[in-house]
Order: sequence, then C-alpha cells, then structure tokens
Amino acid sequence: MRVPDIRKSLKSNSRVAMRILLLGSGGREHALAWKLNQSVWANPLYIAPGNPGTAQYGINVPLDITDFKAISDFCIKEDIEMVVVGPEEPLVNGLYDYFKADKKLKKIYFIGPSRKGAMLEGSKAFAKAFMQRHNIPTAAYKEFTVDNYEEGVTYLKNHALPIVLKADGLAAGKGVAICQNHVEAIAEFELMIQQAKFGEASKKVVVEEFLDGTELSVFVITDGKHYLILPEAKDYKRIGEGDTGLNTGGMGAVSPVPLATPGFMHKVEERIIKPTIQGIEKEKIEYVGFVFFGLISVKGEPYVIEYNCRMGDPETEVVLPRLESDLVGILIAATQKELSETVVRVDKRNAATVMAVSRGYPLGYEKGFTISGLDKKFGKQSLVFQAGTKEEGDKIITCGGRVLCVTSYGSTISDAVSTSLDVLDHIEFEGMYYRTDIGYEFK
Ligand code: AMP
Repeated sequence: MRVPDIRKSLKSNSRVAMRILLLGSGGREHALAWKLNQSVWANPLYIAPGNPGTAQYGINVPLDITDFKAISDFCIKEDIEMVVVGPEEPLVNGLYDYFKADKKLKKIYFIGPSRKGAMLEGSKAFAKAFMQRHNIPTAAYKEFTVDNYEEGVTYLKNHALPIVLKADGLAAGKGVAICQNHVEAIAEFELMIQQAKFGEASKKVVVEEFLDGTELSVFVITDGKHYLILPEAKDYKRIGEGDTGLNTGGMGAVSPVPLATPGFMHKVEERIIKPTIQGIEKEKIEYVGFVFFGLISVKGEPYVIEYNCRMGDPETEVVLPRLESDLVGILIAATQKELSETVVRVDKRNAATVMAVSRGYPLGYEKGFTISGLDKKFGKQSLVFQAGTKEEGDKIITCGGRVLCVTSYGSTISDAVSTSLDVLDHIEFEGMYYRTDIGYEFK
C-alpha cells in the first residue's frame, strides 16, 4: 500500500500519531479497536462507550453516542483528530452534519457519511429510488403510505408470492417481513402503516419482489469518488442450525465467500459498486466512510438487497482480521481523497466467526452471568471479540443477547470454524448457545 504522508494531513508537522475516537460498543467495535490499535498512528485510541474487550486496545469513555453535544465536547477537550463511527444510528441522525456545522469540529477527520448519505440505510425508499436513478440491479418495488393505502392493498392482492414488505426507516433489523400468502401480507401491511408497528419507521412501506438466491455482503471504503473493496463476507442470521428459526443480529460469518469468484466480483464492481459511488458523487452526497452492500446472487447475477452506511456485525469480525493493510492509513487516505492511490492487502486465509449468545435470544434472555475462560491463551489463530459484556468488579459478565464471538483463521472455512468451536469449548457462561454449523454450505 502507498502510505499517505500522514504529516501532510495533520495539524502539527511534528506529530506522527493521531488522536482517534471510535464510537460504539459491540463486537464490530471490538474488532475495529483491535485493528485501529495495530496502527502506529493510533495514539491514543478512545472508544465510546466501548466494552471490556475494547478496553484492551484503547481507553473506554462513558459517552452516550446519541448525545452529540457530549461527543463534541469530548472531541474538543481531548483534541480528537479522527472520529470513526461504528453503528448507523448517529449517522442516520446527522452526526457528520453536526460536526461539519461547527467550526471547532469541522477539521476533524470524520469516518461516516453525511445524513443524506446515511439515508441509503436509513430510508429503504430513498435507497430504492437511488438504485433506480443509477440503474443498479435490485428487486422491483413500490412504496406506500397511509395516503395510497387502498392502492397498496390492491397491489398486494395481485402480487406474486412470496411478498417482501419493508418498513422504510430503521427498525433495529426487524422491519422486513417475507410473507408467504396474501392474507399475511395484507395483515402485515396494515400493522405497519395503520398500527405503526415500527412507529415512524413504518409510516412508509416498501413492497418488493422476492429474490431467490444466495446472500453475501460486500464492503467498500469510499472517499465519495474513489473506493477500495474490502474482503467480502457471508453472515448467518437465523438462530438455529441449518438456517432455521428466528432472525438475529447475526450468529456468525465467514470470509472469503466461495461464490464471490473473480467473475462474480467483476459484475458486482461494474454493475453495483461503480454506479453507487458515481451516484454518490453525482448527487453531491458527502460520503467518507464504509458502504456495506447486502447482495443476493440470483443464478450468478448480483442484486442489491440493501445498503448499510457502516460495517456489519459480525461481518467486521471476519473482514478486518483479513485486512493486512494499516486501517488508519486507509482512513486517512479516504479523508484526503487519496483512495485511488491506495491498495488493500488481504490475508489469503479463511476467517470464520462464531457468535455465542444468551439463552432465549433473540427473544427474552437474562443478563449478568459471569463469563469464564476469557483470560486463557488461545493461540495466534483465534481472536475473541466481546459484544454484550460488562465489567463487574474483577469479573466480566453478560449484558446482551449477543455476548461474544470467536474468530479463527484456517486454510479452509471448516478449519476456521472448528478452531473457533474448540476455543468456545473453553469459554463459559450460564445459558451460552452458539451455532456449530457456520459456513455449513461451504464444507
Ligand atoms: P434487509 O433488512 O433489507 O437486509 O432485509 C433483511 C433480510 O430479508 C435480508 O437479509 C434478506 O434475507 C431478506 N430479504 C430482503 N429483501 C429481500 C428480497 N427482495 N428478496 C428476498 N429476500 C429478501
């Protein structure tokens, strides 16, 4: 990789370190902190609010990431030079715009799109219209609100099955319903629009054609004009083995994905990535950050299922371990619009992560159980990333549904998964559950 001249980009010529604030507290942020901390440029690295895992790689600060004033006060007080935003919510709520509107904050290198850019994730209707404007392959759709509700019901009655209904706004990953018959679809439509099932988020509903294929996720970092493609990943959303049962935030992930052959990735780049980034540029959307393309391959042809304006969780936990390049260097290059001069080096090995969750998740679950085994040495081929954990005295306890994940490298996906399963054998908490079949279709 061409290393950008960091001194050129920094306020002070004498300083070769960058004061970084990472926002978020999940497994994704643990992986980001782990990766950022490997850079000689990250010094100090603050994580807000972080978790006991991120504290191994930086300094946790108890900030509420929805409190923009508290974040900005901290940045000014600590002379922060780069902000990296993990989750979507602050981006969708305009944290970038808040920073750019303040003369003390606007010089800070900000990794995450503007509010407009974040609408690619924050509004399904916006994303679909954007894809239409730029001829990006996606499922056919129509959008409805209370104003054309009756038209929507008629539309649903005549729609081929299954029917996909999506709440327009953020709904904590729960706003999508795949309905197998018309009665179910109309009932869900009514719940979303008339009964505000997801509050404001479902006042508008996108109804789209069901695409039958295999899903995978592709990530880029963009400066709004150029982009670098990061390793792709596939995540496993269902709670049960063999992809059965309820949807979760993600039970595991693998990278690389065997179906992402060079030929397939060429189609993805030409038909999806390039027009998306060109669209962002043409529409003058300020966007320095990650774009997550949720894709589906239908008989080898890629379609966009969704955009996210940040990295995925648990995909980050396999993508970053495969990124050999210095992440801070790449992020600085993005802020300097120098991505076209930067290349990404990728570890050829497979990486797999297996998520351990609390009993009952994704429905009700108990918290507060002591986690044992975290201090064991597992060898260089494995990494433990904490997600829903908390420190209590000298113990680490569970405090979320997705508690931790174990990522391992392997010469095959099965090797990587079985190494992670071996590590999980040595970690314990009351009610711990994980899938043993992550990557099953690639074995
Ligand atoms: P989203 O929140 O848009 O990612 O949707 C959640 C999940 O619903 C996706 O990961 C897919 O598994 C599924 N899904 C969404 N849209 C479609 C579609 N048009 N066809 C088939 N499956 C879909």
